[in-house]
Amino acid sequence: MADNIADTLAAIEIGLKTQAQRFLPHNVAHFNLQTHTLSRLIPLMAETLNDTHPLYQKLIQLDAAWCQLEMGLYGLCSDCETPINITLLQHNPLRQRCGACQQKYIPHPLKKL
Ligand SMILES: [Zn+2]
Repeated sequence: MADNIADTLAAIEIGLKTQAQRFLPHNVAHFNLQTHTLSRLIPLMAETLNDTHPLYQKLIQLDAAWCQLEMGLYGLCSDCETPINITLLQHNPLRQRCGACQQKYIPHPLKKL
């Protein structure tokens, strides 16, 4: 199980790094991102991407997912620590929250009316 998750996360990482390549700051644009760790890449991306940018968000989520996997906490909600529904996780392996906490985390636009 854990091996499959690591494979999945590694595949996501390659995809995100490929996307990130074109957002590199000019002075480091020659970097081959595939050889760089996320902890090196994320501060670089912070220089060129807004922290609400979807790619930046995914890099942060991926970094968190790797940490969770290392600590044996992968698949647990980061707010309430309930196991996240497996179907939701398969749909988005970087998901950090269970359904209930996710709804609380991103308020439904209609609730603001
Ligand atoms: Zn939760």
